[in-house]
Amino acid sequence: MAPAAATLRFLGAAGTVTGSRFLLSTPSARVLVDCGLFQGHKALRLRNWEPFPVKPEGLHAVVLTHAHIDHCGYLPALVRAGYRGPVFATRGTAELAAIVLPDSGRLQEEDASFANRKGFSKHEPALPLYTEQDGRVAALAIVPVPAGAEREIAPGVRLVLRRAGHILGAASVTLVLEGPPERRLVVSGDLGRPGHPLLRAPEPPDAADWLLVESTYGDREHDDSRVADDLAQAVSETAQRGGVVVIPAFAVDRTEGVLFQLRELAAHGRIPRLPVFVDSPMALAALRVYRRALAEGWDEVRPELRGRDDVLDPGGLEEVRDPRASRALCEAPGPFVVVSASGMATGGRVLHHLIERLPDPRNSVLLVGYQVAGTRGHRLLSGERSVKLLGRYVPVRAQIRDLSGFSVHADASELTGWLASARQAPRGVFAVHGEQAAAATLAARVERELGWPTVVPAHDERIQL
Ligand code: ZN
Repeated sequence: MAPAAATLRFLGAAGTVTGSRFLLSTPSARVLVDCGLFQGHKALRLRNWEPFPVKPEGLHAVVLTHAHIDHCGYLPALVRAGYRGPVFATRGTAELAAIVLPDSGRLQEEDASFANRKGFSKHEPALPLYTEQDGRVAALAIVPVPAGAEREIAPGVRLVLRRAGHILGAASVTLVLEGPPERRLVVSGDLGRPGHPLLRAPEPPDAADWLLVESTYGDREHDDSRVADDLAQAVSETAQRGGVVVIPAFAVDRTEGVLFQLRELAAHGRIPRLPVFVDSPMALAALRVYRRALAEGWDEVRPELRGRDDVLDPGGLEEVRDPRASRALCEAPGPFVVVSASGMATGGRVLHHLIERLPDPRNSVLLVGYQVAGTRGHRLLSGERSVKLLGRYVPVRAQIRDLSGFSVHADASELTGWLASARQAPRGVFAVHGEQAAAATLAARVERELGWPTVVPAHDERIQL
């Protein structure tokens, strides 16, 4: 029998933005790139509960592009199911994943016990997908690999990580499959933007036969010009009304981006000096890693900011660690700003802030990140007049603002530009990690502008390389 060719299997982030996981199989090795959780609509979330499609113990290596949950959040479940091999990622990703994964487990434990207390789970008893302890154990499997260094990670498979500029530690993945003929696969991971306030721009992709490109904003262009103005206006107006500005923010990176921007605005007198509370233990832990990266001048940090960890303090920065302090803050009179996770209001302390603040028109809620369809953040963005929070409906009277220009995802032109900077034309491109319309729009544009065959793979589709 002829040896099986290398195949690529799309186990997630195909026609949707979450659950990033791509399985490369060669005759000698199986490598999983990203190990993300599905988020959003229930039909997607249920996929997290399906058994992993291949035996976890049969995988040789896992590679993580970055520490966002939709890219690494399934890892504890994989380890719990029997995966015992190494997990390769940059130092930044290793440090952030050690914060994010246990937190994800803790949230799942809390959700399960809350559902049990309130009796609104259909399962008796509701169980977490994994626990805080599972998250800690999984993070220990991560082996940091410096960006740019080539390293054999499985028989006949070499890895190179390249800076992706999306969040601290974020990398694109190049896999070199030994030949003959040698073949190369590049997975973009989430790509940042040249204008990230703290991080350097993404590196161009390595020469590749096959290229997987994210397409979160594959059908949109960001309008940066308004972001600072919108933020300044929203904060100033809310302060004048004596209200509270609630900013649900992804604990990692978005919190830093918001703090940086608030500092700029305060420094230029465009917003009043207000207390700014960061109310999320995870965000505070991530903030420490960012401060250290700035202070130590990590390679991915913008050169002009190296040694400047002060740029993340907008003045009245208050770190809220204690849950009682968080409770008290929910009832405290404005004006002030509170930045709290999760970024799509799917869990975390921000839920309590929303329950308190949404019914009052003096307050405002600023949505600064991508809101996956089916999440509460998306419902707020869509203008729903009441949203269900912790089992009860809360009226939405606060001002809801879309500040998605804050995005740390490349827009359609930036994605196309990144592809165009490749050192050679690939044989094919796969548009992944985008809702169907966004992925299809980007695919059509790449074919039109670059002339490269581009497809949107279906969930669980297998491709011969
Ligand atoms: Zn991401």
